Order: sequence, then structure tokens, then C-alpha cells
Amino acid sequence: MTTVGILALQGGVAEHQRSLRALGIEPVLVRRTEHLDGLDALILPGGESTTMCTLLRLGGLREPLAGLIGEGLPTYGTCAGMILLAKKVLDTRPDARGFEAMDITVRRNAFGRQADSFECDLDCEGMGGMSLPAVFIRAPKVEECGPGVRVLARVPDGEHIPAQHRGAVVAVEQGSMLATAFHPEVTVDTRFHRYFLERAGVLPAEGAAYNRKG
Ligand code: GLN
Repeated sequence: MTTVGILALQGGVAEHQRSLRALGIEPVLVRRTEHLDGLDALILPGGESTTMCTLLRLGGLREPLAGLIGEGLPTYGTCAGMILLAKKVLDTRPDARGFEAMDITVRRNAFGRQADSFECDLDCEGMGGMSLPAVFIRAPKVEECGPGVRVLARVPDGEHIPAQHRGAVVAVEQGSMLATAFHPEVTVDTRFHRYFLERAGVLPAEGAAYNRKG
């Protein structure tokens, strides 16, 4: 039996829960240190990263989770979750400390305010050439990637995309970590969750089927 956790201190927990259930997985909601036992994979949801940092510190979860992620616990961060994984965060509060695990520099709220939220179709590596619906809500942009980081997706060049966002890096992976600035969990498309879980060894590698079709 494998155990997939969702960090459930704040933010879009229910949406990830729904995506995992659609893939036949009942996740553990990680709120306290005792919920860390036996985790095989972890999702860090969207929400408000500075609030999550405060709650992680107050609940004594930051250190043990940073340790597990550093030791290779497969972890997928969406939006605020991407911010929690980043080694360097721009436009944040000086006291906000995440896990500082992934070799990326992200800028918070780089797509503008809530009213500037937008959607587009993304070509994403690993999805076998199929495009993915991507929703951006006060999302971060990845401004720099270290040599061990693989870029999986960038904002496309379409006419309906504001010029300043075109080409922005919005999905990355490094070792056992995966991060997106967008939110697959608010769509009915479970391919990105499947990609993560296959990579984590939680689901068998059926994703190869996408590649065959592509
Ligand atoms: N802007 C939020 C933050 O900085 C992230 C937004 C989101 O997760 N949808 O934490």
C-alpha cells in the first residue's frame, strides 16, 4: 500500500484530493508531524505561501518535511507549493522560509493580481505532445533554473497571451521534485497528477500510452 500526502495547512487541498481520488488514491492530509510516517509521495497545494510558511514553522513541520524532501521524497508543488520548494523566492516576506530544495528562483505574483488570472493551453514535456489546460491564479514565474532543473513547460506565444508572460517558465522538475505555477487540480484533467505519481512509482507507468499515441 502506498501513501500519498497532501500538505493540508491551508489552500487548495480539496481540489488535489479530488484529482487523486479520480486516480483511485485516497490521500492522507498532512497537518501534524505524525502524518509524515510512511509517506511515499507528497503534494504541496496552492494557497498563500507566506501563511503556509508561518503554519509550517508554528506546527514544527518545516524541518522534518525539508529533511524528507531533501532525502528524495517525491514531491509536487503547485503555485504556492512551487514557491515552498524553491531555493530562492523574490517578492516575499523576509521571514517566510519554505523548504529551499529545488534549484530555482521564483517571483511571487509575477502574473499580476487575482483579476489578471488567465488560462491557456500548454505544451508540456512528458505529456506525449498533448497540450494541457493551465489555469494561473496569482501565480509565480520561474526566473532562473539551476543546471539540474528540467523545464517542462513555458507559456506559449498566442495572441491572447499578454506579451510580458510569453515564454515564462511554468513547469519544472529536478530529481524527485516537480513544480507547476498553474493548477491542474482545478481542471478535470488528471494527466499531470498521473505524471507525478508514475514518476514517484505510486502508479504503474501507463503514461507510456500517451507517448505511443503521440
Ligand atoms: N500568490 C500566492 C503566494 O504567493 C500563490 C497563489 C496560488 O497558490 N494560487 O503564495
